Amino acid sequence: MINILEFFRNIPRKKCNKCGNDIVEQADCYHNTCDNCSHPAI
Ligand SMILES: [Zn+2]
Repeated sequence: MINILEFFRNIPRKKCNKCGNDIVEQADCYHNTCDNCSHPAI
């Protein structure tokens, strides 16, 4: 039986290309920046 917690811990975290913060996994994670950096009103 696979330990589900170990499975998720082994998943590589996406990091923002701009600030380096961890990106919260989203359904439409087509970009490599966090919500702050990908905000259109910059
Ligand atoms: Zn960022």
